Amino acid sequence: MRILVSNDDGYFSPGIALLAQRLASLGEVTVVAPERDRSGASNSLTLDRPLTVRRAANGFRYVNGTPTDCVHLALTGLIDPLPDIVVSGINFGANMGDDTIYSGTVAAATEGYLFGIPSLAVSLVGKVGRHFETAAAVALQMVERHARAPIATPVLLNINVPDIALAELGGVEVTRLGRRHRAEPVVKMETPRGETAYWIGPAGGEQDAGPGTDFHAVAAGRVSVTPLQVDLTQHPQLPAVREWLKK
Ligand code: MN
Repeated sequence: MRILVSNDDGYFSPGIALLAQRLASLGEVTVVAPERDRSGASNSLTLDRPLTVRRAANGFRYVNGTPTDCVHLALTGLIDPLPDIVVSGINFGANMGDDTIYSGTVAAATEGYLFGIPSLAVSLVGKVGRHFETAAAVALQMVERHARAPIATPVLLNINVPDIALAELGGVEVTRLGRRHRAEPVVKMETPRGETAYWIGPAGGEQDAGPGTDFHAVAAGRVSVTPLQVDLTQHPQLPAVREWLKK
C-alpha cells in the first residue's frame, strides 16, 4: 500500500513524524509537507511563483508552499504511481466545526479527495498535545481498515481525536460538523515604529455542539469521524434564488 502523508504544521512537526512512522508498518510512506507552519492556509495554491521541493535528512520532502501545494505537487509530478490513500496530520489542535473552512490539514486531505484518492485529515484536539500517540494509533487503525475493507471512493474523512490516553478513549462516533460562535476580536498592538499591528484572534467558542456533532463526541472522549464534501452549493436555497431573480 502506498501512503502519501502531509500536514499544515510543517515537515518538522512531531505529529507528522509520528504519523509517518506508524503508517510505515502498512506500506510505503512518502511525506511531502510545508517547510513552515501553514496552519490556516485553507485550500490555497501558490500561483505567483515557482515552488521548490527539498529533502530533509529523514527523507521527508518539504515545499516552500501551502499544504494544498504539497499534495498537488505530489499527485501531479512527484509520485508515480499515485498513492492509495492520503493522510494529513497529525495536526496540533482541533479541526472541528467551522475550523474545517480555514484548516490547512483538512485542505491537504481535500486535495487528495479532489484527485479521487481516499483521504483522511487527522487532528489532535486541544492546546497541550500530550497524546499524539493516541491520534497516531487511531490513524493507523483507519488506514488498516481501509486496506482490509476499502472505503467507497471518493471519501474525505475529518478525524478529531481527544488528547487522552488510548485506553481512555470511549470509542469512535460518526458525526456532523458543529458550529462555532464568531471569532474572538482581533488583537491589536503597537509596533516599535508606532504603527498598529493586528493578530487574527482565536476561533470562537462552541455554539452548535450538541449530540451528533464533532464537538460533542470529542468532549465525551470519543474519536469524531465526519465525512466531508466539497460542493458549496446551498441546494435548498436554489428555488428561492430563482424566484428572487424574477423580481
Ligand atoms: Mn495546523
